[in-house]
Amino acid sequence: MEPEVKIARRKTRQIFVGKVPVGGDAPISVQSMTNTETCDVAATVGQIRRLQDAGVDIVRVSVPSMEAADAFGEIRKQVDVPLVADIHYDYKIALAVAERGVDCLRINPGNIGREDRIKAVIQCAKDKGIPIRIGVNAGSLEKELQRKYGEPTSDALVESAMRHVDILDRHDFQDFKVSVKASNVFMTLQAYRKLSQQIEQPLHLGVTEAGTFRSGTVKSAVALGSLLMEGIGDTIRISLAADPVEEVRVGFDILKSLNLRKKGVNIIACPSCSRQNFDVIKTVNELEARLEDINESVDLAVIGCLVNGPGEAREADVGLTGGTPNNLSYLDGEKSHHVTKDDLVDELERMVRAKVKKQREDEEKGILFRGESRAK
Ligand code: SF4
Repeated sequence: MEPEVKIARRKTRQIFVGKVPVGGDAPISVQSMTNTETCDVAATVGQIRRLQDAGVDIVRVSVPSMEAADAFGEIRKQVDVPLVADIHYDYKIALAVAERGVDCLRINPGNIGREDRIKAVIQCAKDKGIPIRIGVNAGSLEKELQRKYGEPTSDALVESAMRHVDILDRHDFQDFKVSVKASNVFMTLQAYRKLSQQIEQPLHLGVTEAGTFRSGTVKSAVALGSLLMEGIGDTIRISLAADPVEEVRVGFDILKSLNLRKKGVNIIACPSCSRQNFDVIKTVNELEARLEDINESVDLAVIGCLVNGPGEAREADVGLTGGTPNNLSYLDGEKSHHVTKDDLVDELERMVRAKVKKQREDEEKGILFRGESRAK
């Protein structure tokens, strides 16, 4: 079996966003951002709960006004996931959400304005142990840097980030993380590579304005996948013009593909062809929807025929290979039983849930389960 590749991660200084560690040896966390009206507390809480169901580690909420800061306080009381307040320019909003229990401030110190205001925000963050995220975007670079570079470039992004970093440094504030996002994959890669050479703080990865569900997913997977493989990145957000729940799912799928997180059912399926003995695509789509609630790590292989079926099915926790006259299921690498075409989805769902139940019981007993003990 191919040995599991372990990515050597860049050593970063660990910070805490609420109870979630970011950087150091912490698992790479997955973030998303609400797109409801923040003042609509019920809608925002509802969306945050859906994000939590999908496994999100940290949620960002934009706070554009003092009314939104009040609403943020109400939202804070109703959910227990760490919350980042996204604030632009207005230091009073930063102070207000700090009072209301924010877990991280996304604010660029260089945009706050007067020195006394910058000082007030940083002092408040220090007193309350709140980290800051510096978030630089190619679309909103300082005018001066736009003039200097003519257009957004990776150097311009890094220079902008370092200006904000220098302000925090000057105030002896080290609990921060930084993002330098562009919508261009190459610019994103270069900016993060350069920045990773300059600071020890964790990096928040993302491709900004990545696009629709499909194109945004591809761009993010290429850019973030490349950086993560180089060991760069401590927390990620996939920006999609789609339901934010999809951002969480895509985020975990990218991390899972690199063995950086193990979460949920990992479906291995063949693309199907005329040799298939059942409708592979319909089966896996139905299974994916039915098994969405599972957070435990389980490999499920669903393969249409005997060409690749037995090999893949044996490697998974639960597997199925199409065959004539019968489809054959596998459990923990061993042949299990025949399954008719009509029972496929129900039976595979049952097998996966039984596997998860067993994992939970073994975990309670302190036994390492199969998924942890071998390379996947
Ligand atoms: S495993 Fe079989 S059904 Fe699936 S793509 Fe390959 S040949 Fe076709």
